[in-house]
Amino acid sequence: MRVEMTTILETAGLSYTYEGGKQALRNISIKIPTGCKVAFLGPNGAGKSTLFMHFNGILKQTAGDVEYDSKKVEHSKKGLMKLRKEVTFVMQNPDDQIFNVIVEDDVAFGPFNLDLPVDEVRKRVDGALKMVGMENERRRPIHHLSFGQRKRVAVASALAMDPKVLIMDEPTAGLDPEMVHRLYEIADEVNMNGSTVIISTHDVETAYSWADLVIVIVNGEVLAQGTPFEVFSMKDVLEKAGLSVPMVHGLNEFMNTNGRSSIYGRTMSTVLLNMRRDVVPGTLHVMRPGCIGKIYGRAGVYGSASRSFIENEKIDVQIRFNAIERCIGDILDGNDSTLYLDHALDHVLDRKLLDVAAHGITIPVKECQ
Ligand code: ADP
Repeated sequence: MRVEMTTILETAGLSYTYEGGKQALRNISIKIPTGCKVAFLGPNGAGKSTLFMHFNGILKQTAGDVEYDSKKVEHSKKGLMKLRKEVTFVMQNPDDQIFNVIVEDDVAFGPFNLDLPVDEVRKRVDGALKMVGMENERRRPIHHLSFGQRKRVAVASALAMDPKVLIMDEPTAGLDPEMVHRLYEIADEVNMNGSTVIISTHDVETAYSWADLVIVIVNGEVLAQGTPFEVFSMKDVLEKAGLSVPMVHGLNEFMNTNGRSSIYGRTMSTVLLNMRRDVVPGTLHVMRPGCIGKIYGRAGVYGSASRSFIENEKIDVQIRFNAIERCIGDILDGNDSTLYLDHALDHVLDRKLLDVAAHGITIPVKECQ
């Protein structure tokens, strides 16, 4: 989504000390722009979860202020209910937030408590379960599910609230690689619907290409913030935070210091363009849900409406995760590719095409009618 100039969450001089005396946050002053995709990085015990718990009022600061939508967070029952309707928090461990026995009951719990009409609750539950790929498990007892599946249920429960801010604490930990990419796709989808998405993660590779804003926390303090490129260029910060350098960033720096290119790619396919002189791109054929046409090259899918469509129609799609990046990879190798893409996610593709265009390469895009 286009990041707006307004601030959705803000802390000023926020400090927090747990009962027992452990000071977890020290003088945190940050602003989260509305519509932003934010990744918090930092070692275990840095204070990321503690900070997140201030964003939706689970914890109350010992000093300083927390504002949501330019108003101080109120810890009255009414104030918290209002806040949690809009700011949803997916905890690191799904077992800390799942209370129901059956999958769909857990996902319905939040919307049901918003006093929404039954039809609307059902619609939200269906949509959220589909987004996390758990629609076929809806009647299963949660304790029969794997850790990764329980995590997906926890994410679905948050999605069903249709939040303005979605906060996920290490959402990809314990998920298989395909689900990790699916989760970032879901995060893009929520973001394109207008929501701000905040995550914490140790996965620097994906955070680098996904985040608009990176905030590094160490020992309860903000050590650095900025674009992924800015933050990963700060060697002393990476050292203090114990962060490894994403491979793409390392390649960007190598190309830059060797004077070969000053253009920074966010993902492998674009950074590799700095090393290639012979690219004759294929054509990207974009298909929409509802559209059945000839498939050119390998086909990929991005977005929940497109996923539902290809599954219902039993369309053979080879690239089932990280599809925008991988379809573009095929195209830059000179092949055609077909991408089933939700309209709502066009902006993600546009951004990628712009990254490629920065290298002087225009990818022909054909929209299938
Ligand atoms: P992160 O999410 O970055 O791993 P946390 O916010 O969980 O960090 O923890 C920050 C610090 O607060 C750590 O030193 C941790 O041990 C401490 N801490 C977390 N929860 C509690 C608690 N309930 N009581 C006391 N100390 C806690």
